[in-house]
Amino acid sequence: MSYVTKVLSGTCPKCGQTKVFKKKGNPLLLEMPVMHENCSKCGYSYHPEPGFYYGGMYMSYALTVAEMVAVFVLGLLLKVNFLNIFIGVVVVILLMSTFNYRMSRLMWLNLFYKNENEQ
Ligand SMILES: [Zn+2]
Repeated sequence: MSYVTKVLSGTCPKCGQTKVFKKKGNPLLLEMPVMHENCSKCGYSYHPEPGFYYGGMYMSYALTVAEMVAVFVLGLLLKVNFLNIFIGVVVVILLMSTFNYRMSRLMWLNLFYKNENEQ
């Protein structure tokens, strides 16, 4: 599996058989996503060291900025006034927050996964 398919599938970076998150979270109910501690099939740890996911914040930042720019450009193309574009950006960011959280952690986790068989 490629990096992109691993991230989008949300499965274990090592075996690809189990989901990394046990709860996806819901921004409307103020529920945060919840990760498993390790893979139930292969035992791969999703928390390799304390503070591992601090770097994932940069991934989350990049995703958030990309979404904000996309909504802003869409608003400009549709000739929406700036106040409504701002409200649209805020709504989209709030609704995408748990998705960004999961994607940024999956991106970070897969970025640092090293497959011993491939090297
Ligand atoms: Zn696994």
